[in-house]
Amino acid sequence: MNLHEYQGKEILASFGVRVQRGIVAQNPDEAVEAAKRLTEETGTSWYVIKAQVHAGGRGKGGGVKLAKNLDEVRSISDQIIGMNLITPQTSAEGKKVHQVLIAEDVYYPGANEPDEYYMSVLLDRANARNMIMYSTEGGMDIETVAEQTPHLIFTESIDPVLGLQPFQARRVAFNLGLSGQAFKEMVRFVSSLYKAYINSDATLFEINPVLKTSDDKIMAVDSKVTIDDNALYRHKDYQEMRDIREENPIEVEAKEVGLNYVDLDGNVGCMVNGAGLAMATMDLIKQAGGEPANFLDVGGTADAARVEQAFKIILKDPSVKAILVNIFGGIVRCDRVAQGIVDAYKNMGDAINVPIIVRLQGTNADIAKDLIDSSGLDVQSAIEFQEAADKVQAVVS
Ligand code: GDP
Ligand code: MN
Repeated sequence: MNLHEYQGKEILASFGVRVQRGIVAQNPDEAVEAAKRLTEETGTSWYVIKAQVHAGGRGKGGGVKLAKNLDEVRSISDQIIGMNLITPQTSAEGKKVHQVLIAEDVYYPGANEPDEYYMSVLLDRANARNMIMYSTEGGMDIETVAEQTPHLIFTESIDPVLGLQPFQARRVAFNLGLSGQAFKEMVRFVSSLYKAYINSDATLFEINPVLKTSDDKIMAVDSKVTIDDNALYRHKDYQEMRDIREENPIEVEAKEVGLNYVDLDGNVGCMVNGAGLAMATMDLIKQAGGEPANFLDVGGTADAARVEQAFKIILKDPSVKAILVNIFGGIVRCDRVAQGIVDAYKNMGDAINVPIIVRLQGTNADIAKDLIDSSGLDVQSAIEFQEAADKVQAVVS
């Protein structure tokens, strides 16, 4: 589950990470109220108005703007709320902005120019460890830094059992070229950030930029946070942070009915039982010259109701040109699944407007094939993987 910047900052603050203060607002009136409160609390007289959407690069797209008085807070908020924000990380249509974060201006002019760093904590799956990735090149998008100046990106690999060691936090501060008060602040920042990452069951905390203010404070100006869905049951308060307006509507609906569905860009819908078989099926579709339109694991019970739900979800994606059903009848018998498909098909009538290829393998596969073949419906059956691939190829090419 991805979070908004303001939600990520709330979590960071709860673990003692210094963050740029801000208050979220749904409309220009709330924005002005938020700005007044911020001035009372922090003394700031300038504000940053930041679009809250699940995408980075907002600054480049016009979603982050400086306001120098309350009138500007009102007019800029009015302009950003409701806009369709297009950034390098959104689709071409952009993302609708529902709310803004009114933040204190922390780039106040001082004796020293403020410095921006990049820092993220993430899961390093290949090494089964956590990793802190950081760079002196903050504020830029990290992919560009990785491409053009890879020597400016540092990593710190952390044993998940031992946790972050004090010398590692000091090495981060050292490699960022800090000294004195800023060095101490950075050591504390890194430790608290790692604590936030671990205790919130996150898979990513990305802070870009981390700011060194002109008075040597280290703070998070932005946050991108992903919480592991499988751990959400342990965090009731984070569950409430889910903003389904930011999520793929078909995926949201699939989740509601308990289907494991991931939307993809291709044209062949797939309905499969078991994640491993689903992955193999996607490979098969690619090999046959198609592109999978989704990943869908229907789970163990592939009865008529379940199959119908799955068909409905798959067909919501307008790019689907054919559906490949690939079910292994191990616990569930193939003939039961076949009957489920036939019943669902009859129930749905005209709603099914693309060819369906069904491959059933396992207990009673032959009976299942006969059931499909004699149903009189526009469903092609197969028992072997290759047979299914050939039939997919015939309909997509
Ligand atoms: P992103 O573009 O989606 O990554 O959004 P960020 O939260 O990183 O903000 C984009 C940029 O806005 C930052 O890199 C800063 O340069 C700038 N910015 C953020 N906060 C402030 C602030 O308090 N004052 C000023 N002047 N600029 C800010
Ligand atoms: Mn950023």
